[in-house]
Parts: sequence; C-alpha cells; structure tokens
Amino acid sequence: MADALTGLGNWMFDDAVMAEKLPSAVVQRFNECLITGAPTLEDDQKVIADTMFTWARERGAIDFAHWFFPLRGGGGAVGGMLGAFKKDTLIDLEFGSKFVTKPMKACLPHERLFQGETDGSSFPNGGLRVTHSAAAFTTWDRASPPFVLDQCLYIPCAFVTHFGKCIDEKTPLLRSMDAVKQSGLRLLKAIGIGTDAKTMHSYLGWEQEFFVLSAESYKARPDLVNTGRTLFGKLPTRHQQGDLNYFQPVPGKVAQLLDIAQAEMLKVGCPMAVKHNEVAPGQHEMSPVFRTANVSCDSNVLFMEVMNREAAKLGLQVLFHEKPFAGINGSGKHANWSIGTDTGMNFFYPGKTEAGAKLYVTAIACLAYGLSQYNEMVRCTVAHSGNDHRLGAQEAPPAIISLYPGQGFEQHVESIVAGGDLLGYKAEKKKQETGCSAAMHIEANVEDRNRTAPFPFCGNRFEFRAVGSSQNCCLPVMVCNAVMSAGMAELAAKIEGGKSHRDAVAEMYKENKHVIFTGNGYSAEWPIEASKRGLPNLNTTPKAVATWSSDKNKKLFETLKIYTAEETEARQEVMYENYISSLCCEVDTMIQMVETGFLPACAKDLEKYKGFEKLGGKRKETYEAIVDQLSKLKDTYEKKPHSGLAAEATYLCDTVKPAMVALRAAVDKAEGVMEASLYPYPTYENMIYAH
Ligand code: ADP
Ligand code: MG
Repeated sequence: MADALTGLGNWMFDDAVMAEKLPSAVVQRFNECLITGAPTLEDDQKVIADTMFTWARERGAIDFAHWFFPLRGGGGAVGGMLGAFKKDTLIDLEFGSKFVTKPMKACLPHERLFQGETDGSSFPNGGLRVTHSAAAFTTWDRASPPFVLDQCLYIPCAFVTHFGKCIDEKTPLLRSMDAVKQSGLRLLKAIGIGTDAKTMHSYLGWEQEFFVLSAESYKARPDLVNTGRTLFGKLPTRHQQGDLNYFQPVPGKVAQLLDIAQAEMLKVGCPMAVKHNEVAPGQHEMSPVFRTANVSCDSNVLFMEVMNREAAKLGLQVLFHEKPFAGINGSGKHANWSIGTDTGMNFFYPGKTEAGAKLYVTAIACLAYGLSQYNEMVRCTVAHSGNDHRLGAQEAPPAIISLYPGQGFEQHVESIVAGGDLLGYKAEKKKQETGCSAAMHIEANVEDRNRTAPFPFCGNRFEFRAVGSSQNCCLPVMVCNAVMSAGMAELAAKIEGGKSHRDAVAEMYKENKHVIFTGNGYSAEWPIEASKRGLPNLNTTPKAVATWSSDKNKKLFETLKIYTAEETEARQEVMYENYISSLCCEVDTMIQMVETGFLPACAKDLEKYKGFEKLGGKRKETYEAIVDQLSKLKDTYEKKPHSGLAAEATYLCDTVKPAMVALRAAVDKAEGVMEASLYPYPTYENMIYAH
C-alpha cells in the first residue's frame, strides 16, 4: 500500500503540474480566464489537452471521462450520491486521412476535454428536458483539476441542457461562487477594506460520517440493499448508552479500509485530515483538509466512490444513509464553510488587525441577514427522506435554522445595535489552568462549541451541521453562498446609499438578530421560543420543499444569476420526486419483508408451542398484530392521491409513514420473543458489532 503521506497530488493535474508542464503564458491566461470567466483560447486548449494526455498516459490512463453530478435528489442513498460518467477511450480518428476509419491515434482532442455531449434523457431534470429533445452537455469545471484514477482521466464537469439550463448539482454551485465574488468585492469596496482583492472564493471542508458493516450481512438485508436503511430491527441491549464507541480505536478491518481510502484520496490531491470512531457502534468519520468549495464537493463524492470500491475488496459495506439504524445515532456530513479573498482575507476570522475585526463583524451581519431572510431556503437544502429521521432528533441540529456566533459575540451584537462601535469584540484565546503540574494550561477558543446549533461558529468558519451523510454538498454550499451574497449585496447597497458602515451593520443586526440563538437547540423550549421569534420549524421534507419555489427565492436566485425561475421550479420537482420514490420503495420493501420473511418465521415459531400454550405466552397475539398492521399499511398506501407531487409527498409523510412506524413496532416486538435462529435476517447485534 502507498504511504499515505507521500505522493501528494501526483495523480491530479493541479496548479503545480500545470506550472511544471505548461508554458507559463498558457498557465497565466488559463488562470485569468478563471477570474474573468472568458473562454480559454483554442490554441491554449490544444496545448493543455496534449499536455494532459501525455501526463495521464504516464499514469497508465487508457480512458477519459467527463464526471458530473446529475440531479438525483436530496440524499438517502445507500452508497451516497455518486458521480455519473461514461468512459471514452483515449483514441481518436486521425482526421484528414483519406481513409475514413484509419489510421487512429491515441490522443485527447482539446474539444473533447473541454466539452462533451451526451443523451441525457434518463437523468432527472424536473421538466427541463423531454425525451424528444434530449441533448445534454458536459463542460469542464476549469477550477477543479482532472485526476487519474483506475486508469481513467476524470474531468470534473458541469452538466447543462441544449439550452444551457442546469440539470446538475455543480452548475448552480459554480454560479453561486461567482455571486460571492461579485457581492463580496462590492462589499469590500463599500467598506474600504481589502480593496486589493481581485477575486473571492468560498471554501468547504466536509466531515463525513458513515457506518461500516460486513458485506455479507448487508446483502442479507433487503431493506439495506433497497433503501439504505433498516426498516425493521430491535436495538441490542447494549447500544450507545455510554457513548463508548466514540474515539475508541477503529477496529482492525475498518482501520485498514480507512488507511487505504486515505492513501487513495491523497493520490488524487485530497489529503485527509482526520479519521476516528463515532458515537454509535459501527460508526466512523473521516474529514479532509478544506479546499475551494467546488473542488471539495468533488472530493467528497470521490471519497464516497473510493470507500464503496475499497470496502467491497475487503468484504465490507459502507452505509452513507442518514439513519441506517433506528434508535442509535444517524450520520451527518458537517459542511465547514467560509469565504475569503485571493489575498488571504477570511471573512469569518476575527483576526488580529482592526480591519480584520471590522470585516468579521460586518460579514456576520450579512450572514445573519441571509439566514433570517432566506431561512426556509437554507432548510430546504437538507430536506430529504433520509434526513427526516435525523433533524430534531436529539443527535442532530433541529429543523429550525438559527445562527450561533458565540455568546460573547451575541453580546457584542447587542452593543452595536444599541449604538456601540463595530470594534471591541475581544477575539483573543482564553488561558485556562488544568489544575495539575504535568499538563500545561490550555488556550481555549474565543467561543465555545455548540453542537446543538445548525450553524455554529468554529473559529475561522461556520459549520452547517444539518447536511445529511449521503448528500452531495453542492446544494447546501450553493445556498450558503447565495444567502451570504444576498447579505453582502444588501449591506453594500445601504452603504452606497449613504449610510455609514457602522449604522448599516447595526441596522442589519437589528432587523435580523432574531436568527441568532446561543442556547441549547435540543431543548424543548427552543421550538417555542423560535416560533415567538417568527422562525419557521419545517420539521418534514414536504413542509420544507413546499417553500422552495417562493417568489422571494426565485427572485434572489434570478438576481444572483444562480437559477432562472424555471430552474428553481425544476429543482423543487426533483426534490419531491426523490422523496416520493424513496418512501414508496421503503413501503414496498416493508411489505415484501413481512410477507416473505417475518410472517413465515412467526408461523414456524408458533408451531413449536402447540400443546405448550402456556410457554407460548402472548406470542400468538404479538404475531397476529403484525398481520393487522400490515393490512393497515397496505390500505393506507393504496389510497395514495395522484393529484400532484406536493399532495402525494404530504400524504406519504403524514399518513403512510405512521402506518410504517406501527408495522415496524409490531415486527420489532415479535423479534423480542421469537426464537433467535428463526429471525430471518441479520439482527442489529449481528450487524453493528461485526468487527
Ligand atoms: P471538528 O473539530 O468539528 O471535529 P474537524 O477537525 O474534524 O472538525 O474538521 C474540520 C473541517 O473544517 C476540516 O475539513 C477542515 O479542513 C475544515 N476547515 C478548517 N478551516 C476551514 C475554513 N476556513 N473554511 C472551511 N473549512 C475549514
Ligand atoms: Mg465539526
């Protein structure tokens, strides 16, 4: 196995490779295009494609692939929301020859590096494309370097229709990064700070949680295979009562998997930063060093792909679903997000200079504006069937979106609103004694951590904690960028209109500070308090998704050039479709497992007690309750309305889901009395304590 600390980016065509292999004028023009958005000159395209071809061949590539992220909905997938690609061989016709098909040569034609065309009719599009006009195009995201993996040159791409409408996750993210640049630079100019910046970036560092099982037990569970989560199963008597699994040594085979993934990711330019055991038995986490948002979103998808592939080689299965096991913690994907300039100014780092401190206070005012004015929009980015089991369940942030900038900062906001200066927030670390001579004092961060908040401050970034583990990060990060851009534009407009910097910031806080909450987000009081403050509590996916295409949202997306109104509506349709299809698949799987697995097992078990009725106890009633609940579920499910996506999703959520819960409860009760060897599937105990 490769050493996990060497060979950084050897297999990625990144800045360093470009600087080494390409004429410097080509590199300079390429980078300028990334700032201006201008197309790369055709002659430069040729040089880049030829150089990339030679470089990829040296690494054994025989194919290349445009790699993109179709709109496959929110989340809840077994192996995570993966990328799409088809492999094209690195061989092309030698045009100009009098023979039509010969000779051929190995090469990467520049037009095929920069653009691809495909029949996209089977990708979800929310009505943006119909089968009789199915052309779709992939175009290289020039800000995300290609890489070689498994003898294939991967080219990260945006994916649009014949008419340039986005039908993927990546395109809106890239558009939102442009929006950050535009409003960010405008704000800097208005406040006269960091005006030498030429461009701005948004950054992402994800923390990926997941479960690892043996492939054998995974394959023996139709619910895991079909829906990504267990639809039945009783908790073992020891589960996570003592949080004993947290930070324990990673068990042998899983540790091997994590080490391999770490080395593979490093090769393709993604150094992993952290790996550890999580709270639930069988649960783990890995996290990379943060990068620009588009590159980091790519690397997260790649991570899920690499994990799936490497786990299979070791006889393991990774579960990226948000809630594979009822009763123990689910999996999230914290999106650590920040924005900053090309000159190195981080908007969310209080810093040591006066300018940095002012910018920090200003930036958080913009973020508070974004989160309060577009609260529902932020909520929608994490709304899907998988996450409905997590959000608000005492292990993940609530479905109420609030901002946690720290308690000290909250006081500072009050003082600004009361007329105080923007400066004065003490961002110094605090010295705390440990009380013993061997262990030195600690330097505590300026603000404490708040694990119950969906959007806490973490020293130099905000951590959007509500993102689901199987999700593609593009949508949540796109919306962070969008609402931040909205705030920055709003504040810049106030100052350009004649308000002083201080007064404009104070006004922003005054109007939006109700979104700031520094208390316990898991407490029963918070939803009550949030409702008093007018913050929405969209606690199910259908409730959240219903708000997505509001006029306000459409207007913002249009102003920021992220989505047209039609694209916003298409995205909503895809969210509904994904929710409906995953719920329907769960119901069908439940019915089948009960009929083909649980009922036969119950019958066999009862058989043993013929003539021993007293020993049988309440088994008969317990098992018969399953039949009753099954028929209730079927009846309810059959009455599903066909009067539109919103009605169907709402019915599934409000009426069918409770029937699923009741059927599950009946089956899990039966598991508690059934002879162990008759239980037809691997149990929770078998699965989560496999290693
Ligand atoms: P935690 O302390 O919450 O467990 P980790 O150390 O596991 O966090 O992961 C934090 C993530 O945040 C890493 O991916 C790290 O690279 C990333 N990160 C650090 N600084 C920034 C920043 N300024 N912007 C975005 N992400 C960042
Ligand atoms: Mg974290």
